[in-house]
Amino acid sequence: MEDLERILDNNRTFAREITKTDPGFFERNAGKQEPHFLFIGCADSRVPLEMLTGVLPGEMFVHRNIANQVIPADLNLLSVLQYAVEVLDVKHVIVCGHLQCGGVGAAMSDNSYGLVDHWLAGVRETRRRHHDELAAFQHNDERFERLVELNVLRQVHSLSRTPIVQEAWKRGARPLLHGMVYGLSDGLLKVLISGIDGQDAVRRAFETDRKRVGY
Ligand SMILES: [Zn+2]
Repeated sequence: MEDLERILDNNRTFAREITKTDPGFFERNAGKQEPHFLFIGCADSRVPLEMLTGVLPGEMFVHRNIANQVIPADLNLLSVLQYAVEVLDVKHVIVCGHLQCGGVGAAMSDNSYGLVDHWLAGVRETRRRHHDELAAFQHNDERFERLVELNVLRQVHSLSRTPIVQEAWKRGARPLLHGMVYGLSDGLLKVLISGIDGQDAVRRAFETDRKRVGY
């Protein structure tokens, strides 16, 4: 129970500190949310999206799953995306991967991990498509890091193909799509791709990949 007491204690401190600097904060927040960001991240406990970006409650809509996947048949993700884009009208959708991602690591190997293998099939597919690029690295760490990046880029591309984003772009140039990787050992976000605001931007960003690996 010590663990639980610790987080409940921290929660009381959190509420007290915010109320101290802004007495009406929670009442206003309960009324409505107007987040500018939808963050799609990995479920990994070392990647606390709100903490590492310093946002306050109400500023970020969040979806997390193993290896930050954007799978077109995932109703959970699509529901979050639709609500974020069509109701909350977020300005930015960010796919955030991270180094040393266990999900991507599992997809690097040919071992079987049970149910999660189905979930990670897309990452394995990315690994296959980029086989030559990955094989050119001398060290496994570099291959791992690059596959984390390629996985993020692939998910940004998948996002751009969803009818939700396509329809939103027809109405105006938002949301902007971005892809980032979080470094566990330095706590920093690295931007891989940014400001994708329509089909032309998608074409430009993925032109090389389309020719080389057929996206
Ligand atoms: Zn991960």
